[in-house]
Amino acid sequence: MQHYDALIIGGGAAGLMCALTAGRRGMRVLVVEHANRVGKKILMSGGGRCNFTNTGATPANYLSANPHYCKSALARYTPWHFIEMVERHGIAYHEKELGQLFCDESSKLIVKMLLDECAAVGVRVETSCSIERVQHADTDATANDRFRLHTTHGVFAAPSLVVACGGLSIPSMGASGYGFELARQFGHDVLPTRAGLVPLTLSGKHLERLSELSGVALPVTARCNGREFSNFLLITHRGVSGPSILQISSYWQPGDDLRLDLLPGRDALETLQALQRERPAAELRTLLGDVLSKRFAQRLCEVWLANLQPSRPIRQFNLPQLRDVAAILQDWPLVASGTEGYRTAEVTLGGVDTDGLSSSTMMSRHVPGLYFIGEVVDVTGWLGGYNFQWAWASGHAAGNAL
Ligand SMILES: Cc1cc2nc3c(=O)[nH]c(=O)nc-3n(C[C@H](O)[C@H](O)[C@H](O)COP(=O)(O)OP(=O)(O)OC[C@H]3O[C@@H](n4cnc5c(N)ncnc54)[C@H](O)[C@@H]3O)c2cc1C
Repeated sequence: MQHYDALIIGGGAAGLMCALTAGRRGMRVLVVEHANRVGKKILMSGGGRCNFTNTGATPANYLSANPHYCKSALARYTPWHFIEMVERHGIAYHEKELGQLFCDESSKLIVKMLLDECAAVGVRVETSCSIERVQHADTDATANDRFRLHTTHGVFAAPSLVVACGGLSIPSMGASGYGFELARQFGHDVLPTRAGLVPLTLSGKHLERLSELSGVALPVTARCNGREFSNFLLITHRGVSGPSILQISSYWQPGDDLRLDLLPGRDALETLQALQRERPAAELRTLLGDVLSKRFAQRLCEVWLANLQPSRPIRQFNLPQLRDVAAILQDWPLVASGTEGYRTAEVTLGGVDTDGLSSSTMMSRHVPGLYFIGEVVDVTGWLGGYNFQWAWASGHAAGNAL
């Protein structure tokens, strides 16, 4: 049996950050990763350029049954701490939009940076290492081998165990429900999980109406359950995607009312009235083709505005009729049937209930020495670098508390 000060299950964003933080404090740390390499999600993130943080990250950008839980860790490890490490490693980056920072070159540089930091402080990383069993001695064992990991590479023991196995999204990248299984084994509640930051699917007539427009993108404000996100909508052959849809998908569940404002930031009635003054002879459908995507406007006229005869010149529309058109433009109902699920979801909503964890150390309230960090915990960020920021911050908090 080999002894360590801390064993970390999962060599993803949170696990590696925790390892390098604990290693800097002189701890002997082992990271156990079942995939053939660490950081696979980091590598595929941000289209291969890793949106590694968001300079505007605040607790308001996270979903959790306890919205206060993430506050302490986020306050103690800010985006600027991570940026400092990125700059120290000479990794060039840029802001794309809305505080989202991406590597100029490749996500590989972020994984290399984390591994270099781990190597510099003697962290051992075991890849292709499967865990057969986690043994916990709470009474008779000495503190030093309180946790024993039986793996395909041998038995490892330590007084602390960190669960950093991530969530269920993208199983082909190594995602497993193992972290939730372990949480239950140790008496923790796991809140219901579901796919987040995920494309929505349409079915029946709702799909038929839009699927031909696959590839069309337009700016919208998506609204659901009191939340709204302004960004692009992308129509796909299965339904809808794009940043505005991915964002709102985390707040949507089947049956929920989902509305899109097709003229974000503009008053639809005022826009139509201005068009009526400026181009009175133009047909409504032509004008809508100019302010929206042409193909989308055409379908809108065929299906949702057909009863208003959109091939008429706009001067023929009276105020109540303009109001009806404006209502559709501003509050277009989108009837989604479901989501594409974990196969394409960026994150898993729900997870290990934060009620059983300390928000300052990430340690279990039931089992001393047991920690949960990253996506396995019921804290989920918006799209835009917030999820990595939570992985870094929670990994850092546990790495300092071990
Ligand atoms: C396609 C995609 C793009 C994304 N892009 C971004 C982005 O640009 N910005 C952003 O902020 N977030 C992004 N995310 C979300 C982000 O990747 C995750 O929130 C983040 O990786 C979570 O970190 P984690 O360490 O908790 O989990 P992970 O990074 O998933 O790491 C968990 C690790 O545990 C390992 N593991 C699982 N089970 C076991 C087991 N039984 N034994 C041993 N090891 C195990 C896994 O193989 C994995 O290496 C993206 C997600 C996806 C899927």
